[in-house]
Amino acid sequence: MPELPEVEIIRQSLNKKIKEKKVKKVIIRNRNLRFKIPSNFSSYFQNKKIIKVDRFSKYLIIYLPQNNYCLVHLGMSGTIHILDKKKTNKTTNTSFYSSPFLPKKHNHVEIIFNKFKIVYNDPRRFGFFQVIKNIYDLKKRFDHFGPEPFDPNFNLSYVYNFFRSKNKDIKSFLLDQKFVSGIGNIYASEILFLSKINPFKKANLLNQKECRKIISNSKKVLLKAISKGGSSIRDFKDTSGLKGGFQNEFKVYQQEGKRCKNYGCSDLIKKKIISNRSTFFCDSCQK
Ligand SMILES: [Zn+2]
Repeated sequence: MPELPEVEIIRQSLNKKIKEKKVKKVIIRNRNLRFKIPSNFSSYFQNKKIIKVDRFSKYLIIYLPQNNYCLVHLGMSGTIHILDKKKTNKTTNTSFYSSPFLPKKHNHVEIIFNKFKIVYNDPRRFGFFQVIKNIYDLKKRFDHFGPEPFDPNFNLSYVYNFFRSKNKDIKSFLLDQKFVSGIGNIYASEILFLSKINPFKKANLLNQKECRKIISNSKKVLLKAISKGGSSIRDFKDTSGLKGGFQNEFKVYQQEGKRCKNYGCSDLIKKKIISNRSTFFCDSCQK
């Protein structure tokens, strides 16, 4: 599943390509995504100039004229491909997830511009497109979401006060989008390893120093992942020829059985599965 850094990489590629470009046509091959694509969907795009592509958490936000917005969520398996009219056999995927080239099946939505087209591919169809018709509704859409780690509101008083009454493990809160937006399973393990906090420690037992570590390491891990182009599941390049490289930086994620990377620690990284999620950690370094 793409996480915030991967979605940010897609946003950057997409924004560069479609910003201020006029849409010629929209083709919908399958309306039945997580939410059904409404029959008037095309009218928001056709002959309209895209203003820009923004992002909140794992949601792409396409700014359209007349105060309209289109949210795009990639679900479990959604990818966005850019296909130039002239060039063939080139990498089309805007992210490092699944196939670098456009698959033959599951191409549900095509947004066609003059010299290229954008294709949305999603085998499992958990992703969605959603049109929002004014800025108030857009704000309301994300009302119940916690701040992103980069948001100034993700600060010590917010985090410490939130944790004080919570008698559940810290890892599950890092994944809870109502608390903080955009941290997924890969990055939660990495953040807790850097913070030297055991993922199963109860949140209400964290002191202020530990909360500060979580705040700063959340920013650090996500920014580093973005600067490395996100994490690739496989080894391939995106449409601009860049490679996702953060997986080479994983300290604990998918490192079970390997020596802990902390200097002076000879323990092995452990993996535990809790409610279908794998958690990776070092028993000696994370207390
Ligand atoms: Zn260790």
